[in-house]
Amino acid sequence: MAESGDRPKLAVWKFASCDGCQLSLLDCEDELLELAAEVEIAYFLEATRGEVEGPYDLSLVEGSVTTPHDAERIQQVRAASKHLVTIGACATAGGIQALRNFADVDDFVAAVYATPDYISTLETSTPISAHVPVDFELQGCPINKRQLLEVIGAFLNRRKPNVPAHSVCIECKRNGTVCVTVAHGTPCLGPVTHAGCGALCPSYDRGCYGCYGPMESPNTASLSAWWRGPLEVEERDIVRAFRTFNAGAAPFRAESEAHDG
Ligand code: SF4
Ligand code: SF4
Repeated sequence: MAESGDRPKLAVWKFASCDGCQLSLLDCEDELLELAAEVEIAYFLEATRGEVEGPYDLSLVEGSVTTPHDAERIQQVRAASKHLVTIGACATAGGIQALRNFADVDDFVAAVYATPDYISTLETSTPISAHVPVDFELQGCPINKRQLLEVIGAFLNRRKPNVPAHSVCIECKRNGTVCVTVAHGTPCLGPVTHAGCGALCPSYDRGCYGCYGPMESPNTASLSAWWRGPLEVEERDIVRAFRTFNAGAAPFRAESEAHDG
């Protein structure tokens, strides 16, 4: 193993999130020791209280910006990071907490907290890229650990990450999974959702609900027309389908708004 000073420094930061994407890194049980031999895990509070000062060669950022303090802190993280990669639906699209973007956040605060005066929050939940330049966004809720290792390896080797931007449908075809929409008339967001999960839900005869967020150039209007027509899905259910973990991702937000009211 190289001396710690010779290895690139990796930092992992948390903003508004459930920690599930950080756990995906800890879930790399077989590869974690190998990774630790290649990088110095300099800041990762989910795993260790030890902290090594920056600057950092690669920062992984989980979570969205939901408070004034978050908005300040992400600037500091960016300034301390040579490369910054956002991981997960919260960091890349605002997460499930971006549902506040479609409502009045004060209503949520009043409903949830006994003493709302103590709560300091922004009206919206926004992705990290709305605040600072981001070098790569890895989608998913949670992210796929194989894709995460690929991204870390790519940055360490100064190459482009090999993370295909095609849809979940392609993964179904590659796996030989029968299409749940064609075979059973099940509404499925697979045609507009970013690959990465291995088409997990259709392999269990369920429609995809879009946890990996939009694929590159998704034709959401065409999918909604199919849902409304042959599949007889109601408008409010189309709104709900596009308003989950990736409600704030631009194509999903626009499609839900097109059917809302
Ligand atoms: S993207 Fe999903 S798994 Fe990751 S931190 Fe957000 S809520 Fe948790
Ligand atoms: S909801 Fe879609 S993207 Fe998420 S695990 Fe299921 S099939 Fe994959």
